[in-house]
Amino acid sequence: MLKGIATSSGIAIGKVYKLEQPKIVVNEEKCEPAKELEVFENALSKTIADIEKIKEKAGASLADEELAIFDAHLMMAQDPELKDQITAMINEGKSADLATKTVSDTMIAMFESLEDTYFKERAADIKDVSFRLLCNILGLSIPDLTTIDEEVVIVAEEMTPSDTAQLNKKYALGFVTEIGGKTSHAAIMAVSLGIPAVVGCTGVMENCKHGDTIILDAKEGVVIINPTDDEVAEYTRKRDEFLQEKEALKALVNQPSISKDGHQVELVANIGSPKDMESVIENGAEGVGLYRTEFLYMESTEDFPDEDSQFEAYKVVLEQAQGHRVVVRTLDIGGDKKLPYFEFDPEMNPFLGYRAIRLCLDRKDIFRTQVRALLRASVYGKLAIMFPMIATVDEFRNAKNFVLENKEELKKEGVEVSEDIEIGMMVEIPACAVLADEFAKYADFFSIGTNDLIQYSMAADRMSEKVAYLYQPLNPSILRLIKMTIDGAHSQGRWCGMCGEMGGDPKAAPVLLGLGLDEFSMSASRILPTRKIITSLSKKDMEELAAKALKCNTEEEVLKLVNEVL
Ligand code: PEP
Ligand code: MG
Repeated sequence: MLKGIATSSGIAIGKVYKLEQPKIVVNEEKCEPAKELEVFENALSKTIADIEKIKEKAGASLADEELAIFDAHLMMAQDPELKDQITAMINEGKSADLATKTVSDTMIAMFESLEDTYFKERAADIKDVSFRLLCNILGLSIPDLTTIDEEVVIVAEEMTPSDTAQLNKKYALGFVTEIGGKTSHAAIMAVSLGIPAVVGCTGVMENCKHGDTIILDAKEGVVIINPTDDEVAEYTRKRDEFLQEKEALKALVNQPSISKDGHQVELVANIGSPKDMESVIENGAEGVGLYRTEFLYMESTEDFPDEDSQFEAYKVVLEQAQGHRVVVRTLDIGGDKKLPYFEFDPEMNPFLGYRAIRLCLDRKDIFRTQVRALLRASVYGKLAIMFPMIATVDEFRNAKNFVLENKEELKKEGVEVSEDIEIGMMVEIPACAVLADEFAKYADFFSIGTNDLIQYSMAADRMSEKVAYLYQPLNPSILRLIKMTIDGAHSQGRWCGMCGEMGGDPKAAPVLLGLGLDEFSMSASRILPTRKIITSLSKKDMEELAAKALKCNTEEEVLKLVNEVL
């Protein structure tokens, strides 16, 4: 039995498909530049065409958020600086392959040396692109996973984003890799595809061969090669149980989210693009609690998306929500979210810097395009507009007035705008939680962004692995901030939601129900499990639990209380 990192849920039992990548051996002899330049140019064009082809194929099974990886790959392959550096080495007499390997290895090492997980992941992207380029230079073929036509479990040293994107869910029962962590692309893609995967499983390549039988338990991170009959029987039973549970949850798709004692809450979804709406409907979400519009801006490579293209995206989402509320968050760029066509001035602490609503209020030209697109789309459904990173009441009032001014302008132009648009804000800066009752005089609703609220309350960068232990959603300090926010909203008759990861955390659900949270927004795949929890609890009992939790000292103590009821 081998152990790895569990990334998704589910169990796979099947035959091994061992993904063996070609070995790269570069030519270190002195070469004729003209000939090598031609080889390099041809290989580069083929690499770009290959990535475009993979992206097109992947479009059928992946959401836009994941597809954006391929745009990043295309950008890298077309990066003039990379090309200049390689060409310069070729002109010095190096072979095309040696030049490419030297330049890309330097870049990979540079990114890998950075602390930040985001940049470490970029190293994986450069590896993926440069490996393809090297294979094309050397005339080596990369195994084509799209040709798999029987049920297999893929075993690989590493799954690159392009490998994962080529998987056909019908035949790929799951995958296991030697390399990779919980936040690696491969892991994220596995969740998105809904297939079991175990990553970081050292020794798996060495211990199996093509055609062996393999068991993969993606919940426990367990891998068994050539299992005994008893093991096959045990895991077949576990797999069937898992599938039955999944099936049973489906019965909750059209059910309301009501506690045992009759208290109703809303379970809604977080989305990043109109394409995500399919899974929102499938999972029985009662609307959209957070539409992160920055992906629209990140996908665009040349310039800010124009009013019409934004209008189209918002219209599709509103129409597909079938009358349910759609909370659209205005542009939240800056911090870790950069745009290829917009230069941010360097700052010591970009997370505490010029970003989100701060940027939008400063650059009304950029903000106006989005606000107009939203207002125009408002007649196609039930729109709510939400501003990110609000810190002061004035910021909120300015942003809200800006929306209302634009509404009047559009009406003057003869454009129809809904009269029923809620305008609210994210509570992700502690200052807002503390002053929630005052904010609630102006905001129609709150949505608590716990990812940032926790990072700012604990002063712990959410991208840093070393301080990840301070991400403590159930720490009583955070619970008190949440309580202030909910009570603040209710004091003015407003509703309060939550759209950070905590909103879909099963351990948080009992306390949040007890604190009186009205709306829980989460990844669509979390909706049904959360509905199951909510319907099994009594609001009154959870109020008592929450009161005890607020008086605890540590997160551990709160977790103990929660585990007693779950
Ligand atoms: C949050 O901060 O909790 C949130 C939902 O926003 P994001 O994760 O996009 O910063
Ligand atoms: Mg945030």
